Amino acid sequence: MSSATLIDGKAVASRVREDVAREVAALPAPPGLATILIGDDPASSVYVRNKRKQCVKAGMRDIHRHLSADITQAAVAAEIDRLAADPRVTGVLLQLPLPPHLNAAELIDRIPPDKDVDGLTETNAGRLALGRPGLRPCTPAGVLRLLDEIGADLSGAHAVVVGRSDLVGKPMAQLLLQRHATVTMCHSRTHDLAAVTRQADLLVVAAGVPRLIGADAVKLGATVIDVGIHHTSNGLCGDVDAKAQDVAGWITPVPGGVGPMTIAMLLRNTLTATRNAL
Ligand code: NAD
Repeated sequence: MSSATLIDGKAVASRVREDVAREVAALPAPPGLATILIGDDPASSVYVRNKRKQCVKAGMRDIHRHLSADITQAAVAAEIDRLAADPRVTGVLLQLPLPPHLNAAELIDRIPPDKDVDGLTETNAGRLALGRPGLRPCTPAGVLRLLDEIGADLSGAHAVVVGRSDLVGKPMAQLLLQRHATVTMCHSRTHDLAAVTRQADLLVVAAGVPRLIGADAVKLGATVIDVGIHHTSNGLCGDVDAKAQDVAGWITPVPGGVGPMTIAMLLRNTLTATRNAL
């Protein structure tokens, strides 16, 4: 029998999108979100399609570039420069991953930091590390929003983040640190992962390994946020085993937990970038 309360990311994301749409309607001109998709990776195509759809629903301008998989670094750079210089464009998103011949870090850093709605440029990562205002990566920002929705008391809490990617784990840890949590970061070389995660009042898992965290790796009553998404023959699953619901106090389901928050926070970031440019 499950004892944890499920955190309804779908409902929170829908509220965020409605708030953004209302605030967009009050602006003198609509935000413009430019998305760049390179190649035809099926998962990336689906993500970009959903981002564009939600962007239009929120009353924003959808500006899209679909570039061929064999495009050169210089041609992508030129496209980013063109979009960044377009006054209608208030946010630029380069969908990752890129084909392996392209240097992703260099291309991301071509996006002007104040239009970097994914929060992934060196400048925005630095701003986050220094606790200065800036655009934050969407998935960890969405996790923080969920924690605020359930009234999680982060100050002094022991937060364990599993995963240290630039996209999720690292910015997640920084955001929690900024909210005065005591943060431990785990990764693929951590010894005895379960012994560390069992100490967590708050456990955020973004390892990309299906059901990495079992019920035995969760402290009784802990808040568990599962960022992982995996397609299996039995449907979607996360990085946390469903049995953890018997032990946790609060937990995000997969699907319907963190997933819907990412696009909602992208819209929020695009609105913020637009307002900052006024
Ligand atoms: P990544 O592969 O870039 O990073 C994974 C991290 O996990 C690495 O730092 C690695 O050290 C760590 N790791 C790997 N195996 C481990 C193990 N056995 N024990 C401990 N740590 C381990 O992945 P990412 O981009 O951070 O994404 C992580 C997961 O979150 C993926 O499943 C991804 O699909 C999902 N994701 C979901 C959303 C969303 O919107 N919900 C957004 C981004 C990523």
